[in-house]
Amino acid sequence: MSDPRLVQRRRWLAWGFVALGLLLATAGWGSTYATRFYFSEAEARGQNTLRLATAVLRGQLQRYERLPELLAEDEGIIKLVSNPDDAAFVDEMNRWLKEVNDLLESSDLYVMLADGNTIAASNYDTNAPFVGNNFAYRPYFLEPMAGREGRFFALGTTSFKRGYYFGAPIRAEGRIAGVVVIKIDLDAIEETWRGGDFEIIVTDPEGVIFMTSKADWLFMSLAPVSETLLERTAETRRYADVTLRHLPAAEQTHDGGFRLMSVEAHAGSTREFLVLNEDMSEAGWSVKVLLDTASARAQAFNTVSIAVLALGLVTLSIAIYFQRRARLRERRQIERAAHEQLERRVIERTAELAAVNTMLEAEIGERRTTEQMLRKTQSDLVQAGKLAALGQMSAALSHEFNQPLAATRNYADNALVLIDRGRVEDARANVARIAGLIERMASISKHLRNFARKPNQRLRPVDFGQVLADALEIIGWRLKAGEATLAIDLGDTPITVMAGPVRLQQVLVNIIGNAIDAVNEEESRTVEITARQDGGEVTIAVRDHGPGISLGLGGRIFDPFFSTKGVGKGLGLGLSISYNIIKDFGGELLARNHPEGGAVFTIVLKTADAPAGLVLEPAQ
Ligand code: ADP
Repeated sequence: MSDPRLVQRRRWLAWGFVALGLLLATAGWGSTYATRFYFSEAEARGQNTLRLATAVLRGQLQRYERLPELLAEDEGIIKLVSNPDDAAFVDEMNRWLKEVNDLLESSDLYVMLADGNTIAASNYDTNAPFVGNNFAYRPYFLEPMAGREGRFFALGTTSFKRGYYFGAPIRAEGRIAGVVVIKIDLDAIEETWRGGDFEIIVTDPEGVIFMTSKADWLFMSLAPVSETLLERTAETRRYADVTLRHLPAAEQTHDGGFRLMSVEAHAGSTREFLVLNEDMSEAGWSVKVLLDTASARAQAFNTVSIAVLALGLVTLSIAIYFQRRARLRERRQIERAAHEQLERRVIERTAELAAVNTMLEAEIGERRTTEQMLRKTQSDLVQAGKLAALGQMSAALSHEFNQPLAATRNYADNALVLIDRGRVEDARANVARIAGLIERMASISKHLRNFARKPNQRLRPVDFGQVLADALEIIGWRLKAGEATLAIDLGDTPITVMAGPVRLQQVLVNIIGNAIDAVNEEESRTVEITARQDGGEVTIAVRDHGPGISLGLGGRIFDPFFSTKGVGKGLGLGLSISYNIIKDFGGELLARNHPEGGAVFTIVLKTADAPAGLVLEPAQ
């Protein structure tokens, strides 16, 4: 698959080429069309000028056209040609011709005899009078002499002034005796052509410019100056002694049907003109209006430039619009894709979370069930434990109490018999035994009462040495009975611990009692009691040299009613009670075997100056 960006770029490039082609086509077609348009506009203007110019020229010619014939019929003129030697009359006619010439506003008015000599002229009194000159070579003389009317445009050979000549035959005594000629001046008309944005030229049948708004072009030939042209011109001396030159001009036809003429103005530079032509056949002239195409071409160029520029701008705007749209679409697509991806992820994550949630719920359900089962099992166990404990306790109690009760009964019965027989001393001994048994039962009951102790009772600083002394006083008889000895080491400084003195004393009695029991059958019957203070703690250790705690019993020795001593000897309550008491003091009771034999019971208690648990209320 190709890169979509590359495809897009190629598409833009293709569109760019299309737009460029369109612009070039517009420029090409537009310049042709615009040139034609401005050419035809110029042509219309030129046509008006041409019409005006020819109308003025025609008007001027028509004004004088018929006058020579009219003058030829004048009696005076006929008389003049008939009597050319009458000097007085010639003089008179000279004056008359001058008057008429002024009246007609013509250039010159003169009369020629049949030989071509001028007999009288309106300019008789000027520096260059025609009188006496022979113009027999001029067509305006030759034609009338042949009976036709004479028309001719030429440069005056005497006056060196251009003019149009009208000649008419003077008929006298049945023959053509002379020619009357009116020369009119066209300079004034030519003058009006100057200063326009066009050039007007009038050419003779040979193509020689004899009237022009551009003075440089005067007497220049549009066609190359050929020998025949020179000969013909020389024949009539149309342009007197002026040298005819060629105007370097080339005519071509524009594809719009316009006639164009390129004229070499100066060296290298060419001016192009739009040519409009009208033939004045009556005079044998050709009137041309030449419009410089530079302005029309510039206008066309400007128009096309503006059009191409506008089209370019429009194309550019369209391109920008489409590009923006494409970008926007692309961005939207990316956003949509991102959005869809996000949604997909959210759905996936939601599904994952839902699955996890379901799993968790299932797990929670399972846990709840397990917890319920555990609770039930626990409560069952507690119930069973309670019952078992109750049963154990009932059995122990009934055993502990039944034995002394049965013995008491026997001693009482015996005492009665002994009293009846008068053996008072023996009876007394029995009663004493009864009293001992009752004391034992009272002791058991006292121990049991400890289970109903109030935990959380207030603690106070207690002198450990004092408590130990009190405990030894209670347990003294057992030491004696078991023949055991004590080794006490409490250090140099008195030790004060946080405790209840009576309860601590009870703990010591239990532990020391157990130690005495343990060493009962041993060689070494020493029980070592040490107490050491370390920081905020006091560690009390009671070590015996007995068999130690049997392996496998572990923590069971702290269970209530657990005893390895025989029936009637141990209740299995001592350590259990002691453990709970020490816990209540915030301390610890630990049991282990000494590496060198015997058991070590360690009591850890807080000192009186320890930060917590300092209460100065009375404590048990
Ligand atoms: P009793 O002394 O009435 O049996 P105790 O709770 O005081 O009950 O003791 C529980 C058991 O812990 C004893 O039966 C004995 O097996 C064991 N025991 C306690 N002290 C010692 C000791 N110093 N040496 C060995 N065993 C001991």
